[in-house]
Amino acid sequence: FVREHFLSSSANLAPVLKAKLNANENPYGPPQTAIDAIRAAVPGGNRYAWKEMYDLVAKISKKEGVSADHIMMGPGSSDLLEKFAIVMFMNGGNIVSADPTYMSLIRVAESVGATWKPVPVKADWSHDLDAMEAAIDSETKMVYICNPNNPAGSLTDSKKLADFCSRVSEKVPVFVDEAYLELADGKTESMVSLLGKKKNVIIARTFSKVMGMAGIRVGYVAALPETLEIVNKITRGGMGISLPSILGATAAMDDTEFQKMTIKLNSEAKTYVCGELTKMGYTFIPSYTNFVLFPIKMDGKAMLKQLADKGVGVRSFDIFDKTYCRVSMGTMDEMKLFVKAFSELS
Ligand code: PLP
Repeated sequence: FVREHFLSSSANLAPVLKAKLNANENPYGPPQTAIDAIRAAVPGGNRYAWKEMYDLVAKISKKEGVSADHIMMGPGSSDLLEKFAIVMFMNGGNIVSADPTYMSLIRVAESVGATWKPVPVKADWSHDLDAMEAAIDSETKMVYICNPNNPAGSLTDSKKLADFCSRVSEKVPVFVDEAYLELADGKTESMVSLLGKKKNVIIARTFSKVMGMAGIRVGYVAALPETLEIVNKITRGGMGISLPSILGATAAMDDTEFQKMTIKLNSEAKTYVCGELTKMGYTFIPSYTNFVLFPIKMDGKAMLKQLADKGVGVRSFDIFDKTYCRVSMGTMDEMKLFVKAFSELS
């Protein structure tokens, strides 16, 4: 149902873009505290970083309120999405998710033999949890939820989601991708507390968004130890992260001022862009993330090309019967560039 338009990869290259608004990155990162920690870490790079990793896992497990055996680290959450997809679907089965949603885990699952069972989102772009539960059958190996969702930026009520996860995880593991959780600015809650009730939920988190470290590559999964064990038997969690990345992530976690600043500036950028879109006669999906999805009145590829020619990179999606633009929030100057270039589309 969802088709994403990519312009030739050159348009995705940061140096040629004045406003890189196509990958939901944080324009303010990495935090200075993390840069300093990364610089200071480099000379120690001759050693494996077991101790530093152990300390980071201890810090994360304390924050999440679980013991350390509930945490698996990865070089970005993408790595863990892939690992879970490969391990859970190497013998086939189906995966139930919303449509549209973030396709990374689903695409890898499909490539090792899974079938995707897409369930259209509701009119308000939240997950249709009843329909998703009804879609589960004897072949279902996992339900994938992305909350807040990408590419819509929409939110599914966390109370309803917690009820769904509690019930459904008795039958099949529920993978909840919370990459944008902090950017919902308190309007949703993590599903991690369900682990305390021994529910088979798998929560993915990343340092790439609110902490501004997409290129540093750190993410983690919180899940039941027995679930992590299945993945650990086949892969090796945590080996892909370098010492500088570990110490950068450790510093970034402590830098709550940076995270607060990101949330504030992200919200200001969204208010500005949504206001300008409204003035130009566009509607948009209320966003709980660092990007905004809105229907456009022209061909997606043509829009990408015209914006890229002006140094602005965004994404375009065909969802059901409409074409949409997804614009990530950059600095205010970048958003002004976007608005100007967008208003000049022909
Ligand atoms: N999950 C979602 C919903 C995302 O949008 C992204 C990246 O944009 C990722 C996971 C992967 O992030 P990373 O691998 O940088 O942790």
